Amino acid sequence: MNATMHALGSAPAKHAVVIGGGLAGLSAAEALAAGGCRVTLIESTGRLGGVLATVRHDGWLVERSADSFLAVRPEGLTLVERLGLTGQLVGVDPGVRRALILHHGRALPVPAGFRLLAPGRLGSILTTPLLSPIGRLRVAAERFVPRRPDTAAGGDESLEHFAVRRLGREAFERIVQPLVGGIWTADPARLSMAAACPEFLDMERRCGSLTAGERARLRAAGSTAQAAGARYGQFVTLASGMETLPLTLGRRLEQAGVEFVTATVSRLQRGVAAGEAGRGWRVFLQPKADAAARQPIDADAIVIAVPAAAAGGMLRDVDGQLAEALAGIEYAGSAVVSLGFARADVAHPLDAAGLVVPRTEGRRILAVSFSSSKFPGRAPAGHVLLRTFVGGALDPETAMLDDDRLTALVRGELADVVGARGTPQHVQIDRWTRAMPQYHLGHVERVAAINARLDDIPGLALAGAGYEGVGIPQVIASGQAAVARVRSVST
Ligand SMILES: Cc1cc2nc3c(=O)[nH]c(=O)nc-3n(C[C@H](O)[C@H](O)[C@H](O)COP(=O)(O)OP(=O)(O)OC[C@H]3O[C@@H](n4cnc5c(N)ncnc54)[C@H](O)[C@@H]3O)c2cc1C
Repeated sequence: MNATMHALGSAPAKHAVVIGGGLAGLSAAEALAAGGCRVTLIESTGRLGGVLATVRHDGWLVERSADSFLAVRPEGLTLVERLGLTGQLVGVDPGVRRALILHHGRALPVPAGFRLLAPGRLGSILTTPLLSPIGRLRVAAERFVPRRPDTAAGGDESLEHFAVRRLGREAFERIVQPLVGGIWTADPARLSMAAACPEFLDMERRCGSLTAGERARLRAAGSTAQAAGARYGQFVTLASGMETLPLTLGRRLEQAGVEFVTATVSRLQRGVAAGEAGRGWRVFLQPKADAAARQPIDADAIVIAVPAAAAGGMLRDVDGQLAEALAGIEYAGSAVVSLGFARADVAHPLDAAGLVVPRTEGRRILAVSFSSSKFPGRAPAGHVLLRTFVGGALDPETAMLDDDRLTALVRGELADVVGARGTPQHVQIDRWTRAMPQYHLGHVERVAAINARLDDIPGLALAGAGYEGVGIPQVIASGQAAVARVRSVST
């Protein structure tokens, strides 16, 4: 497929190279092409979507990584609309819009209104069997806990420190840690509030407490009747699976003239444009499998949309300090074990979106998503699909167990926690090594330092989950923001 040359007046269009064909890179390519730029997207695997992938087999629809995205931020929904996929949007079944937490071996509901760190309703806190009477009173008293003096100045702290300080250790261990662990697979003692959960830090700063902040949010949400949230609930997916999003976007981009190249970028060189010191880029590609060399690709602007350490590796000859800052962003791995059972083989009613497991329960599984309860079409009639997450920053070895041991471990724990017995009718294991960025304390400052160095390098931008949000809407936004950064040299 040939690249299309767009003309800006009579001048040939500038050429931008996007490295990485995940949702961040595709979003950057979309914005660049819309701005009239000639775009080449280089992806090492030859398959678009990055971690987003859907496997369909004999009536099972299994997501390899993300199974949904937040509807309350606009970027995901507007991309779906632009691609003409609105008819495919599905919200989580209203009958199961709640999560369960394992407590002393029993699956109990998260107190109604409790949102990640913010207690919404006093009544549900005062009656939840997840907490002891003292633990409940401690959460109820959150509104009287004084603000940390330096939060007014934007001071950071770990998620664990923040949650224990505001809600008490019991609520942290039994509610917050498992809910947050299910999302970030991170060590809460190292996870930065400012980078991972800025909304809650801000609540304390603005409203004095999470209780008051959540009330104010609910009042505001009620009065503006947040359209998307009200229509679909908090999380949405596509009926045919999440992979439809990058694949449809890829087809659109191809029609718009974006050129796709299957190759692995090894390094970048700056300042190759004749007569313009410091401008212009050369992209070097790893040799082909048969060791045949590949021609480098020249460009006016570059958007790197790969994991941060890989980005750092490409930039070591361009800016050593930038490369080092990028290499310092850590990633954790995990495994998703998707097991399909006959409905009759699972005792639990599966009347929730899923179950999260506190570390204090002493189990190896982190969370179980009740996929076929959440969304239609995930399992054949009379069957259920359970996706179990293991591994993460605090237990990397479990994700690396071989398939048989991993399946046996998950089956054993599912038998205990949801009464899943009998032989699974479908088994799929997806291992993700270094796929989930860990926003540790100092992440905000690190990203600010990275951006400061980028300010001195015209025509270069970074996008992706490594920097300012791992969720799908944030990753789309990162691709679009990267284009704004290189705009002066790409148009
Ligand atoms: C298990 C799991 C579950 C998740 N669940 C959810 C969820 O439910 N909801 C949600 O919103 N988010 C979820 N996320 C997060 C979200 O899916 C990711 O943050 C997002 O998809 C990452 O997109 P990306 O484009 O930044 O990176 P990636 O998808 O990693 O894409 C990067 C691309 O760069 C390519 N690449 C790397 N190096 C090179 C090179 N040298 N040359 C050329 N190409 C290269 C890779 O092959 C890859 O295709 C989940 C993530 C994981 C891992």
